[in-house]
Amino acid sequence: TKSFDKESLLDADRSHMWHHMSPYNPNPMIVTEASGSWITDIDGNRYLDGMSGLWCVNIGYGRQELADAAYEQLKQLAYFPLTQSHVPAIRLAEKVSEWLGEEYRVFFSNSGSEANEVAFKIARQFHHQNGEPGRYKFISRHRAYHGNTMGALAATGQSIRKEKYEPLAPGFLHVPPPYCYRCPAGKSYGKCNMECAQFFDQVINWEGEKSVAAVIMEPTITGGGVIVPAPEYMPKVREICDKYGVLMIVDEVICGFGRSGERFGHQNFGVKPDIVTMAKGITSAYLPLSATAVRASIADKFNEQGTNLHFRHVNTFGGNPAACALALKNLELMEEEQLVERSKELGEELRTKLAFLAEHPYVGDIRSFGFLMGIEMVEDRKTKEPAAPAKLTQVIAECKKRGLIIGRNGDTIPGFNNVLTLSPPFSTTSDDIDFIAQVMKEAFDTLE
Ligand code: PLP
Repeated sequence: TKSFDKESLLDADRSHMWHHMSPYNPNPMIVTEASGSWITDIDGNRYLDGMSGLWCVNIGYGRQELADAAYEQLKQLAYFPLTQSHVPAIRLAEKVSEWLGEEYRVFFSNSGSEANEVAFKIARQFHHQNGEPGRYKFISRHRAYHGNTMGALAATGQSIRKEKYEPLAPGFLHVPPPYCYRCPAGKSYGKCNMECAQFFDQVINWEGEKSVAAVIMEPTITGGGVIVPAPEYMPKVREICDKYGVLMIVDEVICGFGRSGERFGHQNFGVKPDIVTMAKGITSAYLPLSATAVRASIADKFNEQGTNLHFRHVNTFGGNPAACALALKNLELMEEEQLVERSKELGEELRTKLAFLAEHPYVGDIRSFGFLMGIEMVEDRKTKEPAAPAKLTQVIAECKKRGLIIGRNGDTIPGFNNVLTLSPPFSTTSDDIDFIAQVMKEAFDTLE
């Protein structure tokens, strides 16, 4: 273990670092190492990383095989642009298609936001070349998060992340989310007509069906507060897309690569997207990499020999050989160690062991999808008034004191940032889940 001079590092951090998202914090946690599901800070404190970083270190920390795969590739061929080809990208594209279970062509970038930008541009160009150049609009959902760039942020449905940066990319529309706990149509599940899916039909009609290029959705809204749709929802949206010739883009940046208990989140619902975007878990976040997988029948319209219809988009670092080699090893290990199946089991174990929280007076709803979970906190279970922000801050701090990192999300309007989140690595053990349950119990018990 290396030793560090904490005070001089903190001084340098204050002078030179600009942290992501967070309000100014002169005393950030400096993490120095990690193994399995556990991280260690500069003081030697260990924490179970209940969020896998940012929902991304799926396989767990410290896998030598992944470091070796990148190292070997860097020695063999460190870089070549994907205007031509290289072996790790070819093998990874093949593996991603295999995981998708259909023939897709894969375009590599570096981040989830870029993968979504690629999807938007491909969707628009596809319609252009298909004789419908008027189709330029995208429909996503309120509360969704799709990234930080001007298009991906425009697709995002959380005002608080967008204000001060507007105007963003034009042409992005939103419909309410499939949020049974606070049904946007005022119905209750079982006594509704899937109004949440019908919103797409209405908006497509009102906007003019020939003006809509695509819808974009996560299989479950994750960063917007873990909003898990009813089983009929995605198939219904797929049906609506087909009815109007609108493409379906599925954002698997978080739900993909085993997090949902299947290889990809949409596979839980039996739908076949036209475009699938992915990042985070593709490398378990060991190196930056993302991908936009496009159904072969669509991609082939760009790639006919003798035409000039190609996709005019290049990304210098996209599909870096070391990142691709590492990603391939990551997916091979997940197969060998059956980590997708393990994620499903872990999700069930977490649900069972945290079920007691459903009785807590400040818990309104517990939602889970594979091995990720959202605990929506309320002041009053009858009125569903969101819990005071201080209550969430307290639970998070009490968990941290006891060695557990959890997340918080849902921030569409101030006051609604009231969902605690968990998304631990697949290396998590049954003992770790007992630990999570015990710490959460103690942390909730500190609330008045
Ligand atoms: N899409 C979803 C669903 C995400 O959760 C994120 C990031 O959290 C993104 C896209 C953007 O990914 P990135 O931060 O790699 O640009």
